[in-house]
Amino acid sequence: MDKALLHTVWQIAESQLQPNAVEADQGDGHRPVSENLRHLGQAGFFGLGIPKSYGGLEADEVTRHEYAEILASVCGVTAFTQQQMQTGIKFVVEAGNPTLQRELLPALAAGRLRCGVAISHLRRAGLPAVCAVPVPGGYRVNGHIPWISGWPLLDGFVLGASLESGENLFAYVEKEAGAEVLTASPSLPLIVMAASGTVEVQVNNLFLPTEAILSRRPAAWLQESDRRGLTTHAALPLGCARAGARWLRELSRKPGREELAQTALALNLEIDHCRREALVWNCDCVEHPQYNVHAVRARATAVVLAQRAAHMAVVATGGRAHLRDAAPQRLVREAQFYGTAVLTPEVQAATLDQLLSPFFGL
Ligand SMILES: Cc1cc2nc3c(=O)[nH]c(=O)nc-3n(C[C@H](O)[C@H](O)[C@H](O)COP(=O)(O)OP(=O)(O)OC[C@H]3O[C@@H](n4cnc5c(N)ncnc54)[C@H](O)[C@@H]3O)c2cc1C
Repeated sequence: MDKALLHTVWQIAESQLQPNAVEADQGDGHRPVSENLRHLGQAGFFGLGIPKSYGGLEADEVTRHEYAEILASVCGVTAFTQQQMQTGIKFVVEAGNPTLQRELLPALAAGRLRCGVAISHLRRAGLPAVCAVPVPGGYRVNGHIPWISGWPLLDGFVLGASLESGENLFAYVEKEAGAEVLTASPSLPLIVMAASGTVEVQVNNLFLPTEAILSRRPAAWLQESDRRGLTTHAALPLGCARAGARWLRELSRKPGREELAQTALALNLEIDHCRREALVWNCDCVEHPQYNVHAVRARATAVVLAQRAAHMAVVATGGRAHLRDAAPQRLVREAQFYGTAVLTPEVQAATLDQLLSPFFGL
């Protein structure tokens, strides 16, 4: 774990993200989320998963997990928006296109270039939402992107498209391809993550030159990649749960509320246990026969813990928890959101099981 790096994250979280968390939650995708991302970018945090040879920080997994938890514990919408950008960057890092990597990665690591990601439609059953057809010099792409976050702040994004062969194509698309080629909706009217600048995009006859192609993968590759990343996505809900525990601890300092310190402590023990499970059952164990059982359970436990912690913050607060600028109601909405982010059928089933029987995963 890189303690110096995490110390810097805490400084930015406490001085910049925390004081602006209410405004960010109710904001519109520009200030203060864009300002938060600027601070994180200037400190080099978009280079967390980028090799040092390209100017990145090349942080270890525990550091990256803790980084994401810290952000989610102070400002969910900033944590989520930057997470989508980190996912886009991961596709560039793992690409088989060294020329594009040399061009993009140093600028991404320095926070000068912002890259989003549009791949969730590849997880859907039924007819492909975005199709690519080979043409001389590259591919022609048409379709509808149902979700892409950070749109007003992006320079480009990683687009996943289906090929007739059944494979998936991943490419880096520059946003300046033009409004007639990439027609974005206004920011979607969401009850949570509204300031993430999430839009739908119609793709009309987009030409992707061969140089923009990051990789061409078998259809099963994304499923396998989701499987390897099962517990990576436990970090944001665990950060949300941590914010719930912190809220209870703060309430316990008020006269007559001392017993809440024990409640916060018990909750923190559950969070610590779940974090350990998430970090142990990481992608290094993917070949272990019990990997799926443990990793899916850790992920679902994190989601349900976030929801329980947020509800505890509401119950312990009373009616004022429902004021628009009260943290507990924001945490409830964020926890609800984490129950659907990067959803796979297995995670969905395990989460429903745990919601049916809250002690299932413990
Ligand atoms: C605010 C917001 C921002 C987002 N930003 C991004 C982004 O930047 N980039 C990106 O790529 N994605 C983004 N997403 C997408 C997000 O990751 C998806 O919501 C999530 O993966 C679930 O996908 P969906 O809603 O499209 O799934 P749906 O197609 O609605 O399916 C959800 C789940 O339901 C189950 N299911 C659905 N249909 C069937 C069926 N016929 N049979 C069996 N099971 C079924 C499956 O388990 C499936 O995983 C965003 C979503 C939101 C809400």
